[in-house]
Amino acid sequence: MKLDVDALRYLSKEDFRVLTAVEMGMRNHEIVPAELVERIARLKHGGTYKVLRNLLKHKLLHHDSSKYDGYRLTYLGYDFLAIKVLVNRGVFSSVGRQIGVGKESDIFEVATEDGTILAMKLHRLGRISFRAVKSKRDYLQHRRSYNWLYLSRLAALKEFAFMKALGEHGFPVPQAVDCNRHCVVMSLVQGYPLVQVKQLQNPDEVFETIIGLIVRLAEHGLIHCDFNEFNIMIDDEGKVTMIDFPQMVSVSHRNAQMYFDRDADCIFKFFNKRFQLSFHDNKDGCDDSGSDDGEDGRLSFWSIEKSAGFLDKELAASGFTRKDQDEMEKFIEGGGDEGETVSSDDEDCAYENQLGNDGADAVISTLPCLNLNMHQEVSLNHKKVDNTDEHPHTSVTEDLKIAEIVNGVDLCANLRDNENDIVDGSALIKNGTLREEEIDGSDDSEDSAPALIKGLNRQRRRAVAAARGGRKAVISRNSYKDKGGSKSSHNSKLQRQACKLYS
Ligand code: ADP
Ligand code: MG
Repeated sequence: MKLDVDALRYLSKEDFRVLTAVEMGMRNHEIVPAELVERIARLKHGGTYKVLRNLLKHKLLHHDSSKYDGYRLTYLGYDFLAIKVLVNRGVFSSVGRQIGVGKESDIFEVATEDGTILAMKLHRLGRISFRAVKSKRDYLQHRRSYNWLYLSRLAALKEFAFMKALGEHGFPVPQAVDCNRHCVVMSLVQGYPLVQVKQLQNPDEVFETIIGLIVRLAEHGLIHCDFNEFNIMIDDEGKVTMIDFPQMVSVSHRNAQMYFDRDADCIFKFFNKRFQLSFHDNKDGCDDSGSDDGEDGRLSFWSIEKSAGFLDKELAASGFTRKDQDEMEKFIEGGGDEGETVSSDDEDCAYENQLGNDGADAVISTLPCLNLNMHQEVSLNHKKVDNTDEHPHTSVTEDLKIAEIVNGVDLCANLRDNENDIVDGSALIKNGTLREEEIDGSDDSEDSAPALIKGLNRQRRRAVAAARGGRKAVISRNSYKDKGGSKSSHNSKLQRQACKLYS
């Protein structure tokens, strides 16, 4: 099912008001009764039902009458909410082709007003039943509620925070530009996932650089946890960029060594199979990475001098708290595989293989202009949030109260306290309704959360400028990449194809 982002242009303020009301209702309802939507949205002249029909038509909502009559957001609806906020902030103005699909995300090219191409990652936690999350569902059954939209948002926030912090520490990562809901905007990496590269002029050097990254991460107190050929990009000059951070953990994690070894193993195995590197022969080569090797020439987790506290100190400053981290680890801990290795014909460590992506498929061919390839509605897989689902017709005051206490957590208070929620345009309840700025994402006006917002705005401007500065016009050389699978980024093509979201 494909849907046109073009529809964004034609959606009215009322449409967004109602869409946001459904999003809010979903904080404590798997399915949000129309009555509640109406009461939250409080359109001036009524007409919520008509708006709901319009949103249904555009597949931004899904109507469900299995348990009782109500609505829920589709992923597309959630995408629209995030995209609208980011467009309003001036982060980008058009959406182009899909350039990647990960195990739990879709990646698109987006263009700023001045034509700079960035990458937009839409997190889709729960879309795929990859074992990690699946196994955690057992756990979820014992918790009263679980919201995939919430987790996708948390994953995006974490990815953004890590990307930013790692970039500031000189790690080769995309430039973090902005984040809203489940959406992260970053600079476009000019290169290819390592999995697509069949030949390297200097595999030893690249191997050492990559192993060096694992070591440096650990020295900074971090483990990537999904460090493999799918999450390492390389360009024509051999420059390596690492991506994909939602599953990173601290070196103080109870399974830290296992995750560290697994990351290192993936790289060893990949280079051994693909480039025939022999690690007994190349044992000395690893020493350049600044680490001590274990007896078999492998990295030794314990011999690395680690500085803990990175997560707490630096990431909290980016809006991702220790509490968020703990919450995420419950679900997607370390890529979630708990050390299980997935064997495929080609690579052992490629978790993406669970999805049948063999790398070549990991990049999708050009999509029609502004058409997001929406993967139907998300299967929300919610368990009942709480008993309120059985009583969809409780009064709005009750509902709002319930909205504030989901799983014993005062969500609304959290949101009020959490500047990120203000900044990201998420809905807040005020007197039982939505405020205007919550709908159009204009809530990041300078007076609503002054210091932080000013800072974030500055940061955003700097990030876009940096992304722009680092951009190369076109990828031309492709000396060692398998030409047959060329999926280079055709910026000019995008510019031709990308249409403005708001003219
Ligand atoms: P997932 O978490 O779902 O695995 P990733 O972040 O690994 O998602 O992205 C999936 C694919 O999208 C990558 O393998 C890569 O091809 C592409 N991709 C992701 N981020 C970027 C980026 N900043 N620039 C260019 N391509 C990207
Ligand atoms: Mg990935």
